[in-house]
Amino acid sequence: MSSVRQNLTKFKEELPPHVALVAVSKTKPSEMILEAYDAGHRIFGENKVQEMTRKFDQLPKDISWHMIGHLQRNKVKYIAPFVSLIHGVDSIKLLKTINKEGQKNNRIIPCLLQIHIAKEETKYGLGKEELLDIVDGNTLKDLKNISIRGLMGMATNTDDREKVRSEFRALKRLFDKLKNGYFKENDQFSILSMGMSGDYRIAVEEGSNMVRIGSAIFGQRNYH
Ligand SMILES: *Cc1c(COP(=O)(O)O)cnc(C)c1O
Repeated sequence: MSSVRQNLTKFKEELPPHVALVAVSKTKPSEMILEAYDAGHRIFGENKVQEMTRKFDQLPKDISWHMIGHLQRNKVKYIAPFVSLIHGVDSIKLLKTINKEGQKNNRIIPCLLQIHIAKEETKYGLGKEELLDIVDGNTLKDLKNISIRGLMGMATNTDDREKVRSEFRALKRLFDKLKNGYFKENDQFSILSMGMSGDYRIAVEEGSNMVRIGSAIFGQRNYH
């Protein structure tokens, strides 16, 4: 049995049934994705537009492609025809661009709002004020070709488990607040995407229902 298949099996046994698994295949060849596909997996995450469109072209069409990386507005058009979920929406401008490309493709594009929860400067995401701008203003009402499905966040990259836990907990609290507030009438607002190979257990304990796992499935990535 291939190690990709073994690792997937392990995750499927370990994760509670309400937690969706995004297999993060960035930098990995299509052959490895096919191994996971042949083991029954269908949800894959990529963080580069060019790489995702190339793999989309090469691989079976019933794969759900999730864009998990920072997305530049001028590249939205390349993924708009097929992307299943955009995790990293971090500005109103980007939302508007996704809406426009959704319109052109005659589809409603599912999105997650990425929230800045880590203490690191380098991580992308909406701050409190920008989030309030989006949900308090009338921004979303006019954007008929996007559907906000939930929130996404990345914890600080640290060995301090309690710090990671408190960041995830804060995101879950914000998620619940929006779900019971602004998105109360919207059943589609239901996804909380948090947790990667190094911290998914804490994330699930803190209420994640979608984890993004790369290296623990496909092995370490080599960047050249
Ligand atoms: C690369 C990446 C992951 C997966 O990271 P691993 O540590 O390999 O599991 C998850 N989320 C995002 C946003 C990523 O860029």
